[in-house]
Amino acid sequence: MREGGVLIENIFVPIGGGDEIGASCYYLRSGDTRLLLDCGLRPQSEWVYPYFESFLPMGFIDGLWDLDAVFLSHAHLDHIGALPKLISENYRATIYASTPTKTLTEVMLKITTKENAKNSWYETPNAFYQSALIHEAIGKVVAIDWNKPKSFGNFQVTYFPAGHVLGAAMVYIEFENRRILYTGDFCDVDQETVGKYQLPENLPVDLLIMETTYRNRTADREELKTYASFEDFRGILAEGGKVMLPGFALGRAQEVALKIKKAQDLGLVPVCPIVIDGFAKALTDIYENYGRRIYDYQTVFPFQRQDETLYADEPCIIIASPGMMLEGNRSARHYSRMPSGSIYVGELPLTAHAQREGLLSFIGNVRPKEVILVHGNPNETTPIGLFEEIHLRFPFLKCVYQSRNLQPIQFL
Ligand SMILES: [Zn+2]
Ligand SMILES: [Zn+2]
Repeated sequence: MREGGVLIENIFVPIGGGDEIGASCYYLRSGDTRLLLDCGLRPQSEWVYPYFESFLPMGFIDGLWDLDAVFLSHAHLDHIGALPKLISENYRATIYASTPTKTLTEVMLKITTKENAKNSWYETPNAFYQSALIHEAIGKVVAIDWNKPKSFGNFQVTYFPAGHVLGAAMVYIEFENRRILYTGDFCDVDQETVGKYQLPENLPVDLLIMETTYRNRTADREELKTYASFEDFRGILAEGGKVMLPGFALGRAQEVALKIKKAQDLGLVPVCPIVIDGFAKALTDIYENYGRRIYDYQTVFPFQRQDETLYADEPCIIIASPGMMLEGNRSARHYSRMPSGSIYVGELPLTAHAQREGLLSFIGNVRPKEVILVHGNPNETTPIGLFEEIHLRFPFLKCVYQSRNLQPIQFL
């Protein structure tokens, strides 16, 4: 594209996920290479998909068939959920992902379509057509090994573990004289199910594209909330009640189960069975297949239909898809047989993203020349915005951008 007679070579355009959490989808062009980073949807929103219909008339590409590749960071729906849409818009090239993300993407797309068919926000014009699109999208996904540069002719890509959830990757792209690191969603502390992100020392990075979900959060606050929840559990379980926790999102049920088990070992929560059911169980099975032990069959169990733990007058903790806990839902039948003293508690706060200080130290460690902030709400600022603090703390940065949907950024 030419502007004022100058060839614009390096362009970044958020088609979604720029100044929001949802529909992450970033167009990245360097030289002749045109890529997409992630292709997610915006759950429970009026407009579910990335803004392809506004992006295409901007003239960077004629159609999605012009793209050379899509690189997925991880299998959360806000990063992969729009892949069927991409196929319906005639995307033809390959989609790359880590091996676990490839497996999880298939399950996430298939199961969420089934679950969400009941929700009006999810566009399911024709179930048969939708499943054909999913099938085609899955067929295009090729796995990339960890830490091994993969060459694409005029550029190469390396996937590094990002923490966050099983399979989550940071995508490192090396062009001839420009190195770009896209963090995806990342976590800078070890979780129960996955370790923290791992990057080689002194990795040269010119442009850092960084998520900022928890741009205003501190770790202490989250920790306190978790302990407050454990206090609630203690009372309910001590009276023989049941605690029900929604575990819809990938990574949440698995993390919650192991966190509670740890709290039981420490005597913070009474010892009782922790049962994982529904969609959460399907995802936990994949964690198990990739060698992450979640079930110990002593405290943490997958739900079995014949399991009487749920219906007995004994305390237990149930982690399942929120839909399964709703009255009237077909799969809620087995829950309706539970004793009336059962209590639904709600979400347990978890930290699968780097928080304010973690984001800042990450920039300090990577020492890029430029930073683009994505996947966050820039309007949440307390008391000084992350954007302003980055400017103050890191004078070595040439440019810091707060990305906004559909606003192109020309990087160095
Ligand atoms: Zn995520
Ligand atoms: Zn995300």
